[in-house]
Amino acid sequence: MFNLILFGPPGSGKGTQSERLIAKYGIKHLSTGDLLRSEIAAQTPLGIEAKNFMDKGQLVPDEVVIGMISSALDHNPNAKGFLFDGFPRTEAQAEALDKLLKLKKTAIHLMLALDVSEAELIKRLLGRGKTSGRSDDTNEDVIKARIAEYHKKTSAVADYYMKFDKVKHIPGEGSIDEIFENISAEVDKKNK
Ligand code: AMP
Repeated sequence: MFNLILFGPPGSGKGTQSERLIAKYGIKHLSTGDLLRSEIAAQTPLGIEAKNFMDKGQLVPDEVVIGMISSALDHNPNAKGFLFDGFPRTEAQAEALDKLLKLKKTAIHLMLALDVSEAELIKRLLGRGKTSGRSDDTNEDVIKARIAEYHKKTSAVADYYMKFDKVKHIPGEGSIDEIFENISAEVDKKNK
């Protein structure tokens, strides 16, 4: 099994690069943002609760996303590996993920962290808001709140995996192809 975390602030290109990674390596994509948006679309109680946080640019409570990931892992017993996108976003989520993977006799093998400047993030997110249909991409205050949450709660998750020497930084500005080549090179080094 090969388990990878694609890490970075909102707008750093995780979704775009995830699509390429799953196509190339055949691992299962688990995006908590996508899972939450499906819950909202289906108007489940979880989705209705989560929407209140997402509309303000705040993180959804840990137990909600950990529960979603736990059930996604259970529903994919034959996966070759997992690509975690937008998760873990807090240290508590990282610890919970380690425990869940340990129960399945596996672990995180690599975290790829996409580095993008703040001005570029805001530009990309406002651009995406014109077509994505995501309400959290159209309002600059919400975008700024999401980036603030990233600095306050999420960036420390990279330090957590750094302790285990699992983090590789990738420049997240440049062409999509170029960034993907750098990402693939790191995956190939670990996933032999
Ligand atoms: P994303 O699609 O990853 O940008 O996520 C959109 C929104 O969903 C975030 O701004 C959060 O409100 C919520 N969200 C997604 N993943 C998580 C997570 N791992 N922990 C808490 N909230 C999350």
